[in-house]
Formats: sequence, C-alpha cells, structure tokens
Amino acid sequence: MLCLGIESTAHTFGCAVVDEKGRILSDARAVYRAPEGKGIHPREASRHHIEASHGVLKEALSQAGAGMKDIDLVGYSAGPGLGPCLRVGAVVARTVAGYHKKPLVPVNHALGHIELGAALTGASDPLVLLVSGGHTMILAFLEKRWRVFGETLDITIGQLLDQFGRAMGFASPCGGRIEKLASESSGQYLHLPYVVKGNDVSFSGMLTAAVKLASTSKMADVCYSLQETSFAMLAEAVERALSFTGKKEMMIVGGVSANKRLAQMLEMACERQASRFFACPIKYAGDNGAQIAWTAILDYKKTKKAVKIPDAFATQSWRLDTVDVAWR
Ligand code: AMP
Ligand code: MG
Repeated sequence: MLCLGIESTAHTFGCAVVDEKGRILSDARAVYRAPEGKGIHPREASRHHIEASHGVLKEALSQAGAGMKDIDLVGYSAGPGLGPCLRVGAVVARTVAGYHKKPLVPVNHALGHIELGAALTGASDPLVLLVSGGHTMILAFLEKRWRVFGETLDITIGQLLDQFGRAMGFASPCGGRIEKLASESSGQYLHLPYVVKGNDVSFSGMLTAAVKLASTSKMADVCYSLQETSFAMLAEAVERALSFTGKKEMMIVGGVSANKRLAQMLEMACERQASRFFACPIKYAGDNGAQIAWTAILDYKKTKKAVKIPDAFATQSWRLDTVDVAWR
C-alpha cells in the first residue's frame, strides 16, 4: 500500500509517499518564510502554499518513482492549524483523491508528529513531549486516546522562542539561532519567571521579562537564561508525568526537539525515572507529509474508514485528546 500524505497546517506545504512498512519513499517540502521580525501571516502563507502545491506534489511523486495510479490512499492534515493554510492542503487532497478515485483520510497533525516519531525511533508506548510552533503538550496513551498530562496555559514553547527572537529582529523560526547564541554565553544566568502550575506551564510572563532583559543584558546570556528556564519547566513537568504514569519510554517530537540542550535535560530526567529516551530524528522533527501519510496508513489499515470527498473537513482547533485511535 502506498499513501500520499499532504501537510499544510502552518509554514510548510509538504507531500510525501510512504509505504505500508513505514518506508519513506519521498519527502518534498516548501517552507514559507516570513519577513525578518515578522510572524507567519496566514493569508501570505496560504498564498505560498497555493503557488508551491503543484511543484511539491509533482516532486513527491517523482522522487518515489510513482504516478497517481500507484497511490492507494491519500491522507491530509485536517487540523489543528491556521485556517487558510489548512484549506489549501484540504483542497489539494480532495481534488487529487476525488479525480483519481482514491480513499481520503483526514489526519490530526499532532498525531502525525507522534506516529512518525514512534516509527522512526522504535518507541512503542512512550510518554510524549510534543513541542512545536503550535503545541506544548505532555501525552500518554491510555484506553484508545492520547491523554494530556500537562500542557501550556498560554503560548507554546515554539511561540516563546519565535516571539522573543522576532522582538530581537531575528527571522522566524528563531529556535536554532537562540540555541546558537545560548551556546556562546559564559553561563551567566539571569532571573526569569519560572511558572509551573500543577503540571502545566506558562511562558507568556517569561517572554515579556526576557524582551525587557535584552535591553540591558548580553544577548547570549538572555538566550541562555531563556532556554535554561523554559526547558527546566518542561523537564520538571515531564519528570512528574513519568513518575505518575510509570512509562518506561519517553519521546520528544516537534520542531523544538531539534534543540540539544532540551534533549540533554530530558535525558537526565529519564535517567532518574529509569525511562528510555527517544528523540525524533531532526530531519523529520518539523512538519512534513510523511507524518501524515504514515498516520493515514495506520488509520486506514485498521478502520478501512475514509471520508466522502464533500465531507473532507479542515478544522483550526482539533485537540488530540478528542481523537479516537483505533490502531494502538
Ligand atoms: P514545527 O511547528 O514542528 O515545525 O516546529 C517549529 C518550531 O521549532 C519553531 O518554533 C522553531 O523556532 C523551533 N525550532 C527549530 N529548531 C530549533 C532549535 N534548534 N531549538 C529550539 N527550537 C527550535
Ligand atoms: Mg507541527
């Protein structure tokens, strides 16, 4: 079985072909870059996706050495995400699946991050930390659903890093640049608000404080302190969730999992809880079509359920803990 996966929740328009064994036969992407100091403008990003869609789709099929006749299934990212961006992916998916008479499967984007991460790392029943532009969630699988064991009360960790970076005039996404600057600090820690409530985290006060600090302190030290404080909050919440759930595996997925310091802190927490640490390979940590294709395969193989073309939906708010998972 070959599945074409289409991803368009935010900055990336991606298409990929994945087979039934989870082999990624192709992975084509085009990424919308906002002007320096600016965030993603949903309308501009959707315009980018519209222009990129044809080329990316063609590239994905050609890399896989496949034509639409070889594709058995089409999966698309139906949410959560930015409405105008989601609609581009949904329209492309509907058109391709409708015209070529292929079953069409809507995929929850967060689920895509988790399932591809699990397939690539070999984690079977992990506690998951999903950290990206759109998510900051700690999750464990229990009775057919991913349950939330902690999440952000306001902005995500990706938004903290990107909004701080943008206030400094960096081009978004800013996480990589902040990591590099932090590594240049001598280790001068500057106080920032550390807010863990129950097992949830809050980053908005830290964002305000870090932007203020940057006018009087060395940039490298502010980046260092921003990472140390926000990552320690996440590590604390993850460690508590590990202790509570007793999970023997922990997996980090999402764009922020590219960060080495975050991985190091989580590894220490895992060691204390006798849990194995898995990180999604950097190449597939960010948004891509392969996560959608693979999740669509898992879903379709188990349920044989597809949507009718006119019913194919795109929804901005689609919480992961409302999705029934039949294949785990
Ligand atoms: P995603 O939404 O999954 O594509 O992830 C995008 C987010 O990952 C953005 O907020 C980036 O700033 C963040 N990111 C990418 N690389 C790094 C890094 N090395 N350290 C921290 N955050 C990163
Ligand atoms: Mg994502």
